[in-house]
Amino acid sequence: MHPARPAPPTGRWTRPTLWRTWPVRRAVSAALGGALASVLLLSGCTALAEEDDRPVVVTTFTVLADIASNVAGDHLRVESITKVGAEIHGYEPTPGDVRVAANADLILDNGLGLEAWFERFVGELDAPHVVVSHDVDPIPIASHAGAGRPNPHAWMSPLEAQHYVDAMVAAFTDLDPAHAADYRANGDAYNARLDEVQDELESGLDALPPEQRVLVTCEGAFSYLARDGGLTEAYLWPVNAEQQSTPSQIADAIRVVEDNDVAAVFCESTVSDSAMRQVVGATGAAFGGVLYVDSLSLPDGPVPTYLDLLRHDVRTIVAGLSGKGEGS
Ligand SMILES: [Zn+2]
Repeated sequence: MHPARPAPPTGRWTRPTLWRTWPVRRAVSAALGGALASVLLLSGCTALAEEDDRPVVVTTFTVLADIASNVAGDHLRVESITKVGAEIHGYEPTPGDVRVAANADLILDNGLGLEAWFERFVGELDAPHVVVSHDVDPIPIASHAGAGRPNPHAWMSPLEAQHYVDAMVAAFTDLDPAHAADYRANGDAYNARLDEVQDELESGLDALPPEQRVLVTCEGAFSYLARDGGLTEAYLWPVNAEQQSTPSQIADAIRVVEDNDVAAVFCESTVSDSAMRQVVGATGAAFGGVLYVDSLSLPDGPVPTYLDLLRHDVRTIVAGLSGKGEGS
């Protein structure tokens, strides 16, 4: 233990993303005085050793960062611009975010219209830029203001996510050809884990009669998961950026719940569930729980990794729709 290491706040370290996303190597150590910089550098994250000169991969949100970390192994440093819990659709980048992106050797974003806020400045940067959804089979947004545009949430399909993995393997191989075999092996291992999640989704939903396979959520973020799992999807609003929860949207959701005798409805971690609570209050449905889509949780939360996120959502949905959810 180094004597200069500051004591952690209490118990578990709860803000690891601060350290993962802080541009220590180029910006902080150059811009800050020796004392503060050395505190930062000695503060307990081994990946941030002073001589860390691995290529830097910057992603737009935490889900992509976790997938990229698994494909990269130890060969690359992966950072996410948005932090855990951020609302990523209407995010407003800070000057610090722009500096993080400017330090990147490679930039990964989701595409499919998710990161309009990011596209505004990514064109100004020198680093190569890869849209990881480029081989996804897009599903159009079905209703309201977004009609006709692609639904951006392709990562919510374990099968489409394998296209993300393959795009990262190719991008990392271009960036760092010396470790091409490792990136392919890491990608293959991760895709096998995604196959396991798909199997769990299918076997869980197989147990439900077809008339119970109606998924009602706040955001229309589950089109791809619904396609993989044979679910019918309904939602209050199509995309969080256009979040409204108008009386007519709430009335539509109530009608879907009543017409289909839906056992449980759900809402996502990054938005208010108050409109969905009105649906619960007006129907016999239970509140089936919080689903995670646009952000991971902190490490001590329920979905610290993307695979955890998928498994959590699959289990919560299956339990809720079969009337076995905890409810609340
Ligand atoms: Zn979303």
